[in-house]
Amino acid sequence: AQVPVNVTVTGAAGQIGYALLFRIASGQLLGADTPVKLRLLEIPQAVKAAEGTAMELDDCAFPLLQGIDIFDDARQAFEGANVGLLVGARPRGKGMERGDLLQANGGIFKPQGEAINAGAADDIRVLVVGNPANTNALIAQSHAPDVPAERFTAMTRLDHNRALTQLAKKLDVSINDIKKLTIWGNHSATQYPDLFHAEVNGANAAKAVGDQAWLENDFIPTVAKRGAAIIEARGASSAASAANAAIDHVHDWVNGTPEGDWTSAAIPSDGSYGVPEGLISSFPVVSKNGKWEIVQGLEIDDFSRGRIDASVKELVEERDTVKELGLV
Ligand code: NDP
Repeated sequence: AQVPVNVTVTGAAGQIGYALLFRIASGQLLGADTPVKLRLLEIPQAVKAAEGTAMELDDCAFPLLQGIDIFDDARQAFEGANVGLLVGARPRGKGMERGDLLQANGGIFKPQGEAINAGAADDIRVLVVGNPANTNALIAQSHAPDVPAERFTAMTRLDHNRALTQLAKKLDVSINDIKKLTIWGNHSATQYPDLFHAEVNGANAAKAVGDQAWLENDFIPTVAKRGAAIIEARGASSAASAANAAIDHVHDWVNGTPEGDWTSAAIPSDGSYGVPEGLISSFPVVSKNGKWEIVQGLEIDDFSRGRIDASVKELVEERDTVKELGLV
């Protein structure tokens, strides 16, 4: 029998966790032939709720699910982890400054980075979903010096998927007709969804749209502010779509991206496209042999340059703040 893959999920009792765990256990994360063991991490007050979710997972009788363990201690939760989905985070409260938010999240992601360093499996892959995801990933990574830096990533796949659908609707085409769309920068309102390198049935997407005003005043803000629009409509933040994007990200990381296309993920910069080395920023990426690679050689015009620089500047500021706080 195949050895099960250990998947650690933090914030497991939250609403994204609830949408995520059943899909992992059903085989959608790693494939229909790969057995999994779930390791759920929660804060002590939420352990009981996580136990309730685990009861429901039991009740699904998933053939691939070989065990569920629940922890309130990061060291134990990441012991032997092959995949870490870092969902639990401290949300921004009313009147909270960015420094306070980063400080609070430092208290979560520093010990988790240390725990990953201490006990995770050699092939550990980490996806940070909890916001501010890029900088939380940077904090965790900096406390895991023995783990290759490239194993720490943050999620911009939901932004990518949102952009795909907005473009498909605008041009009245199928998602399958669109390739090479990119989200650049931070998973925040400054993110830049780029249509200038995207293709629609082989033709340039920006040209096919042919409407710079729509691109600037409609498309980009709709994608960047979609989270707020969901809260407004649903009365709760997006959860199933965030979980879906996390599945897509890890699935492609492990299994590869399709030939002739790319996707978006926030990964440590190697200096490509003028993004300072080490920042965890979103790029056009392909996955080959289990590794993300930044798509090289794209020409960046002045409009795109300005947008990318603005988002990267925000990442630099967040990094400087966590440096001052002693978190990286
Ligand atoms: P959710 O499950 O809805 O969200 C979890 C995190 O995902 C938040 O930081 C949220 O950021 C982020 N996120 C990223 N992208 C999206 C998106 N597109 N839509 C919505 N959220 C997104 O939060 P809940 O409050 O339901 O659950 C969080 C759980 O985490 C709680 O059970 C809590 O106990 C737990 N927790 C666990 C910790 C641990 O394991 N050590 C530490 C802290 C909390 P944002 O809010 O900015 O949208």
